[in-house]
Amino acid sequence: MAGQIPALPESFAPGIDGVFSDRLGFYFMESKVPGLSKVILNKLNMKDYGEYRAAMEGKTKRGAFRNCKEMFQKMEETFKFCVGCNKIPEHLSEGQTLKRCVKCLNVYYCSKECQKKNWPQHKMFCKKLRLVAIDRLVEWLMFTGDLPFPTEKWTRPQGEVKCWDDWLAMQGDLTPRLDAVLSCINMGVLWKNVSRPRPEDADLRESVWRIESEFLSRALTVGMAMRLFCLDPSSKPFTIHLAGAGLSETMGARLTDFDELDRMYPGHQGIEVVMVGPEVVDGPIMRSPLTSFGPKTKTFISAYKGLYHQFYEELVETKAAAKPDLVVGFHPGFHATQGLGEGWLPTLLLLRDFNIPSFFSVFNEMELNSSLQILSELEMNIKGSGTNPFSSQKPEPVQSSPNNPPSYCNSHFLYFQGLLEQEQFEHPDNYRNLWTV
Ligand SMILES: [Zn+2]
Ligand SMILES: [Zn+2]
Repeated sequence: MAGQIPALPESFAPGIDGVFSDRLGFYFMESKVPGLSKVILNKLNMKDYGEYRAAMEGKTKRGAFRNCKEMFQKMEETFKFCVGCNKIPEHLSEGQTLKRCVKCLNVYYCSKECQKKNWPQHKMFCKKLRLVAIDRLVEWLMFTGDLPFPTEKWTRPQGEVKCWDDWLAMQGDLTPRLDAVLSCINMGVLWKNVSRPRPEDADLRESVWRIESEFLSRALTVGMAMRLFCLDPSSKPFTIHLAGAGLSETMGARLTDFDELDRMYPGHQGIEVVMVGPEVVDGPIMRSPLTSFGPKTKTFISAYKGLYHQFYEELVETKAAAKPDLVVGFHPGFHATQGLGEGWLPTLLLLRDFNIPSFFSVFNEMELNSSLQILSELEMNIKGSGTNPFSSQKPEPVQSSPNNPPSYCNSHFLYFQGLLEQEQFEHPDNYRNLWTV
């Protein structure tokens, strides 16, 4: 059916019940490149979003690929649409094929005309998209266990480690660790099975570092949140709730994922990280939170699948889980849609009314501003915001609009605690006015 563009599948529209951020992703993708979400589902051998969701929940078998080659091929096919006119392969006329930009090996065009017309835009991002295309594949090593590479003991107190350069200065020469990843068996398997040549070692080393930085960014950002609130796990056992934890933090998560906190606070009294969210993926971290304190000097990870305010009512209020000393949310996205906002509202009010030190990260400045706006409407006592010195170094483009500035995980942050004090309540004249009405 060349040229015919299917209507937006209704099941992708974000609804009131839209607490799943991936549903929103599908919706945006579908409105930009009609048919692309269907392509992705087809590649995954799924018929609709419901089935995708069920697979994510671990209810059905996912990724029934015959081999590695097929997996990488199908992944690549999800990027096959003309960035000039948004045509996907099934919209092309006979004999027409999509051709890849030879410089970045990341974007496709249906014709020379589309490529020429798109070049003024694409040339601003082509270089960066070349890196993105490498990262997208190297990231697989996170799932095979070849990444993250090990990190060193901290030789400086956490208060003095204020940015990536400070952290890197404690690590010594990274090259042997990067090279060990470059020469691992799976790195060989990877480039043998994808339809592009293996990049130069220098490019691969940088890619490995960018992917490691995304992983470490979470623990280092949590550490920064503790510093901003002047919280110290060396004096008492410490509980951190990761509200709204989702696929990126829990897919393939290991019990050791927050061990950088142990290096940050050597000799701490026990740190527990509880990952809470409706999109939490089943795995080894799916175990009950601690009711008493965990082992000293070790970070204990547990998880709960559901909305944060439900977790709080069910487990914290019944004392089946410890009260949080700090709540962190990576990219909560409550500014994005009404459905997500409504899912988050009871949680935001709970954080405010129980006066819990809370810290959120976002992908960019625009998200930061709209999130700040929502929090100030809720009369939150916002204590500060800014750019995160421990932002991920890995560029993250929008799949359906690659010719746009990429985002970076945890690039900006804001933190708040409790209710904003109302000026009128502090003013004696206003008190009088209130009472005489
Ligand atoms: Zn085109
Ligand atoms: Zn290019």
